[in-house]
Amino acid sequence: MAKAAVSIIKVSDVYESLQESLRLSDGLAGLNVNDGILIKPNIVSWDFELPFPPYGVVTTSSVISALVRILAEHGFNNLTIGEGSLPKLRTTGHEVYEALGYKKLQERYGVKLVDFNQEEFVQVDYGDGFKLDIAKKALEADKIINVPVLKTHSQAKVSLGIKNLKGCLSKKSKQYCHGLGNEELSLTFPRIIDKLPVALTIIDGLYTLEKGPGPTGKAFKKDLLIASRDPFACDLVGAAILGYNAKEVPHLTNYAKRHGSSLELSDYEVTGESIADHQNFVEHDFEWAEDNSGPTGFQKRGITGLAIRKYDSSLCTGCSVQFNPMLILISSAFKGVPFPNVEVVCGKQQLASTGFDNTVLFGKCACHLNKNNPNIKKAITLWGCPPDLEKMAEELGKEGLECDYNEYVRFRHYLFDRYKGKEGFNLSDWSVK
Ligand code: SF4
Repeated sequence: MAKAAVSIIKVSDVYESLQESLRLSDGLAGLNVNDGILIKPNIVSWDFELPFPPYGVVTTSSVISALVRILAEHGFNNLTIGEGSLPKLRTTGHEVYEALGYKKLQERYGVKLVDFNQEEFVQVDYGDGFKLDIAKKALEADKIINVPVLKTHSQAKVSLGIKNLKGCLSKKSKQYCHGLGNEELSLTFPRIIDKLPVALTIIDGLYTLEKGPGPTGKAFKKDLLIASRDPFACDLVGAAILGYNAKEVPHLTNYAKRHGSSLELSDYEVTGESIADHQNFVEHDFEWAEDNSGPTGFQKRGITGLAIRKYDSSLCTGCSVQFNPMLILISSAFKGVPFPNVEVVCGKQQLASTGFDNTVLFGKCACHLNKNNPNIKKAITLWGCPPDLEKMAEELGKEGLECDYNEYVRFRHYLFDRYKGKEGFNLSDWSVK
């Protein structure tokens, strides 16, 4: 079988550029007009309470609406948009769809909107003991068009098409994917795709994001679309554009091993723009002190008496999204004097060490794991899966760590405001005209 091409298109007008992208990648070739097609965007999270900059975080509605329009013009009339955002969301997926303008696509083209979190999941057996609960609507689709964002990921390095399918899992299976040993992140989520009929991947690169996947990372304008009927090839090219050699991205090497795919870009056909012309390294990871005592920013501020252990891949997205806000909260408790000898641990494998007077256990997993840890003198348990920020501030306050929740609110405004008036950054990309 001839290899599917990967197209790279510089975006001018999204609709026209997407048409070109599909033409160069022969993107519609694997679809039949009568197919039930599921479009899977990336809506990792959303927030109606505090400002939320979606740049490089959430698939643009510009790309989704252009895609729906093109499909409708080609006679496809059985379209569904489905996603399973973070269950932590205090809103339902349907409210988010409304905010993203998808309801207009529903009215205009009859697109069905599905919030996987409110629907049925089916346990799928991969045949070797590996099982995942996958959204029934995703399994039942004739074809899936996967529309991830061109972004980095602090744990997975890059978060592209293969990773985006994690949104098709139940909360339990999402957490399971952040396991240990053979259940480690880079071994688990690349397998989701094996049971899903992904016919086309379109990487939305209108914006890209460093230190993703959430809005604490910084976004850049990129104006690219990368598309292919080969999901792996598409991710390989996306990773290269973000400056990552697939050989250094464990989930891509694991996928390649399992499928016998080449990791060499030269083995794939790239059409349109060249990779070299758009390749810029985008940082994925947060800087940490060499002795693992916390983010380097804390050191620079002169914060002492505190050791925050760096998260690992066993920290699920729910806790990851709360991790940075937790850092903001804790730093707000710094009043120029050393912290009272505090260690913070999180995830499914971090054990508290000796020599600390206080141990903060961030999240239910860390609380359970360290329940009988003899190293702990005094535990400050932040229960929750993931822990709630306001409750977190309350619990820390009880132990004399006076956090200012408003500091977090200010941080959220800062994240949002840094794109205000910035050339090329348009919130209208998350609406449907
Ligand atoms: S507490 Fe955090 S790490 Fe543990 S399962 Fe919940 S989200 Fe995942």
